[in-house]
Amino acid sequence: MTTRAQVSSVQDVVASSAELARAALARTTGADFRTRWKALVTQGLLSAGSRAPAAGSGGPGPVTTALATIEGIGLAGAPAGLCYALASQRFGIQHPLQSMLSEQALHSLGDVTSGDVLLCHALTEEGGGSDPLSMSTSAERQADGSYLLTGMKSFVTAAPVADIGLVFARTSADRNPFALSAFLVDLRVPEVKRSEPFAKTALTEVPMGSLTFGGVRLAPDRLVGQEGSGLALLTVTTAWERAMLLSYALGPMRHVLDRTVDWCKSREHFGRKMGSSHLVAARVADMALALHRSRELVYRMAARLDAGERPRHLAAAAALTKISVAEDYVMFTKQAAMLGGVRSFIEDSGLCADLISPMAASTYAGPNDLLRVTVARELGLPVEN
Ligand SMILES: Cc1cc2nc3c(=O)[nH]c(=O)nc-3n(C[C@H](O)[C@H](O)[C@H](O)COP(=O)(O)OP(=O)(O)OC[C@H]3O[C@@H](n4cnc5c(N)ncnc54)[C@H](O)[C@@H]3O)c2cc1C
Repeated sequence: MTTRAQVSSVQDVVASSAELARAALARTTGADFRTRWKALVTQGLLSAGSRAPAAGSGGPGPVTTALATIEGIGLAGAPAGLCYALASQRFGIQHPLQSMLSEQALHSLGDVTSGDVLLCHALTEEGGGSDPLSMSTSAERQADGSYLLTGMKSFVTAAPVADIGLVFARTSADRNPFALSAFLVDLRVPEVKRSEPFAKTALTEVPMGSLTFGGVRLAPDRLVGQEGSGLALLTVTTAWERAMLLSYALGPMRHVLDRTVDWCKSREHFGRKMGSSHLVAARVADMALALHRSRELVYRMAARLDAGERPRHLAAAAALTKISVAEDYVMFTKQAAMLGGVRSFIEDSGLCADLISPMAASTYAGPNDLLRVTVARELGLPVEN
């Protein structure tokens, strides 16, 4: 259970990270993704909570601290795409790797926490998104023990600018649970070609693209875990993502709720404040409800991870959290868009509603439809993907 002391320290982390982020964002208004990323990360915002609190300090654990930090960055007004990129790197890559790699292997990635090294998670291919076993990218073991990586990953967040990719590839032609392996691939070598950033419509502040591997030689120590453990590792990275990635939305949601309340308090309609309509008040209350539910769920997942629960064992709860927050975020934004009227569709109105980015959350980290199938299967229904 969260104590009063812990609650106040979570709020302290949120407030101090918001203050640091506000300054970094102001300095880099209009700059490109990597510049803004670096400005935020050099404040220590991506390493916050990387050490566990001193025993008996009562402070929040590392996952909760990282979550509060990302919430603070969003509260400071960081665009949703930047918040998403930070949460994705922190929870979808850094945390899982910390539990799988030796200190030395982690060190060999370079300084991730300074913003000098940017990671990406390369799983999806043009022909296979939800179904990883259909991937065609392959890593063939060579006589000297190295691997030769060939193929193409697509729709990868940060691919156009990342330094190192956690790349999933087939090490066996069979379609079985041991056919895949994961590798840490240096994307700065000539055998890796990056696409131009895709013209995507969601989370526009972080670039997405494809990576083509034209026979990249990988030393044996680039393999993460054992050969054939790729699918098991994917279970861990996706459990982390489903549990924690939607944390990126908490700050932007609070931001939108606050500005919507201000708008409803100031806007006059029919000779009275718009907020004195019960229908308007109910929409605002529904927004607050969606944010409250989402925040409670994500902080609960962080507390369970801090308590040492294994991500793999949290898979069902993580899937439910991801579906719930993703769907609440869509409903929340729809209410805000209704209340903003025409200003919801004017970029510089201060009330512009981004309906597309919340919708994208029902696709990444496992489409919600497929997660529903997983949940039903866990409950005992004889249903397969
Ligand atoms: C903003 C964003 C960021 C992303 N970042 C990354 C990244 O960093 N790295 C990466 O590797 N990938 C990334 N992706 C890609 C993402 O992982 C894939 O989009 C996802 O796995 C789904 O694959 P797909 O889009 O090919 O959908 P498909 O597999 O084609 O599925 C589309 C839809 O079909 C339906 N469907 C399909 N099969 C079933 C079934 N058996 N049961 C029920 N419904 C079904 C569902 O409604 C599903 O949503 C990102 C995507 C987005 C939107």
